[in-house]
Amino acid sequence: MTVRDIRISDLGHRWASCGRNGVVNFNWRSVMAPVWVFDYILVHEMVHMIERGHTDRFWHLVARVIPDYEEHVRWLNENGADLDL
Ligand SMILES: [Zn+2]
Repeated sequence: MTVRDIRISDLGHRWASCGRNGVVNFNWRSVMAPVWVFDYILVHEMVHMIERGHTDRFWHLVARVIPDYEEHVRWLNENGADLDL
């Protein structure tokens, strides 16, 4: 799949989403995360272009790019709610 467009909007509680039409949406709050955490959000959506669901294959692919991705997820779970204006 090809990324056709990138949009920044208010996705509520979701950090990002990836549509079947090749449009990747980012929650505007996600860009306030540290760059190393945003990298995870970006990679997460890119991997969804290969594997739609959160399957074992999905997490295996994420780990190939970000071996310590669980630390990134933990940061989001602990600090994500503070990413607001
Ligand atoms: Zn996902």
